[in-house]
Parts: sequence; structure tokens; C-alpha cells
Amino acid sequence: AKEEGRNNFQFYSSEMTELAFEHVAMEASLRQALQNEEFVVYYQPQMDGRTDRLVGMEALVRWNHPTLGLVQPYKFIPIAEKNGLIVQIDQWVMKSAMTQFVAWYKDGLNPGVLAMNLAVKQLQKKDFIDTMSNLLKSTQCKPEWIELEVTESQIMTNPQEAIKILKQISEMGIELAVDDFGTGYSSLSYLKRLPIDKLKIDRTFIQDLPDDEEDVGITKSVIALSKSLNLKVIAEGVETDEQKNFLVENGCQNIQGYLYSKPITANEMKERFLKNS
Ligand code: C2E
Ligand code: CA
Ligand code: CA
Ligand code: CA
Repeated sequence: AKEEGRNNFQFYSSEMTELAFEHVAMEASLRQALQNEEFVVYYQPQMDGRTDRLVGMEALVRWNHPTLGLVQPYKFIPIAEKNGLIVQIDQWVMKSAMTQFVAWYKDGLNPGVLAMNLAVKQLQKKDFIDTMSNLLKSTQCKPEWIELEVTESQIMTNPQEAIKILKQISEMGIELAVDDFGTGYSSLSYLKRLPIDKLKIDRTFIQDLPDDEEDVGITKSVIALSKSLNLKVIAEGVETDEQKNFLVENGCQNIQGYLYSKPITANEMKERFLKNS
């Protein structure tokens, strides 16, 4: 690769400059966005597939850019993870979603559990626990309403440190879910040592159900694993009735996916899912 880089130096370096510029420009606009509160939290329902009742929802951030419009997370989250701004973005998301949940509960509605994504950078921050307790205090959100989603690969970046922080989070009464389960490389021995409450089966195993025999096998195994480790289980990316029926019949009743709804605004959530809850 070095050889190649030298031969194509001209091309390589201008491309690098462009990329670097994009990142620098992006970092500046992300800072601006934080300051101007240009982020918006969308919510995707998590349902009980047997009863079609709401059990909770996942908070998913979007960037409402003044000229670009609604920017999807894949366009800015990876960059924010690199430059560290993800920590501030996630704190904003948490505050905003927790405030929303308190308002709903105060209105007598039942939004269930609030699932939020936790970036690895947060797990490395010594003061995350302080931040979390401050947020709980200032918003009056109850820890038992909250569930934090962490991916296997995020945990495995520094498992010792992650386990320590996850334990503290768990002791606060906040539940923990392993996101994108099955796509990482965490070993079962780590899984046993993690203070987690739930496995979230990744969309890639769900999308070809029930035709793909391997995915059928993997999904059934994850459900069995969750039962034997006494964990809850939820499937994400469920788009069809067939997929849902397969999952429910095989013991995974918690369902998230386009079948029920794409991520929507808080107002849409209230209209569509909270009015009779
Ligand atoms: P994720 O945590 O795995 O979130 C699930 C993603 O799958 C969401 O994409 C959701 O819209 C999408 N999805 C849900 N159901 C279906 C379905 O039935 N079919 C298909 N094709 N897709 C479905 P989204 O909102 O674009 O978010 C992408 C990723 O960005 C998230 O993946 C998460 O890793 C990250 N992300 C989003 N919001 C936040 C946040 O507030 N903080 C952090 N740290 N990461 C976030
Ligand atoms: Ca997630
Ligand atoms: Ca996921
Ligand atoms: Ca994912």
C-alpha cells in the first residue's frame, strides 16, 4: 500500500486533503449544530409481537440541517465518533429523550422503556456515571425507564474498562442491552461476565427469515442463549409478518422494525402509539 501511495502521491494527497477538509468542515458544523440545537430525536416503537402492544421505543438521532434538511445518522455519527463530539451529541439526545419521557409519563401516557444508544467514547469517560446521575436528577427521569444499548464491538474495545462502567450503570437501576448481537466477536465467557439484561438480534439475521436456513439457525440459537442466560431478547429490523410470526413462534416476542413503524417524531409517536396506552 505504501508503494502504491508513493506512485499515486498526487492523487492520494489531494484526496486526503479533501477528506481531511470535509472532516474539519463537518466538525465545525457539528459544533454549530450542538450550539444551535439542530439535532432531533426520532423514536422507533418496540412492540410485543403477540399482543401488538407498545413496550418501549428506541431514541435515534437526526440532524435537522438548516440547508441540507434532515441528515441521517450514518452521515455524521461515524465522524462524530472519531472527533469525540459524539459524547456531547449523545448527552443532548439523552437529555432530550429523558425530558420527553417524563412529560409523557406526567400526562398519564405509557411509553414503556426508553432505549438509547451509548457510544464507546462514553464508556471510556470516567465521568459518565456522574453525567448520568445529573441527567436523572435534572430531568426527573426514573432509571428503571431507561435501557442503554451498547454494541459488542464497543464493549470489546476495552472489555475490562467497559465491564466496570456497565456494572455501575446497572447498579443505578438502568438496564443494558447488547445491540447488533451476533455481528461482533464477543466470546460467550465475556457475555457471562457482563451485567447485561437483553440481547438485541441484529437486522442482518432477521432480513432473510424464515427462508435462509443459516439465519433460522442463528436466530434460534440466540433466542435459546438468551433463555439460558436469563436475558430478555428483542429482534430489530423486522419488516414482514412472516418474520414476526417466525420470531414470536420461536420465543422472541419483542419486535422492532418497519413492520410496525419507521423511526418517527415524538408527536407522531404520541398520535399513533400513545393515545390509548
Ligand atoms: P442501530 O442502533 O442499530 O439502530 C437501528 C437502525 O436500524 C436505525 O437506523 C433504524 O432506523 C434502522 N431500522 C429499524 N428498523 C428497520 C427495518 O425494519 N428495516 C431497516 N432497513 N432498517 C431498520 P438509523 O436511525 O439510521 O441509525 C443508524 C445507526 O446510527 C444506529 O444503528 C446507531 O448505531 C447510530 N445512532 C443513531 N442514533 C444514535 C444516537 O443517538 N447515538 C449514537 N451513539 N448512535 C446513534
Ligand atoms: Ca441501537
Ligand atoms: Ca442495532
Ligand atoms: Ca446497527
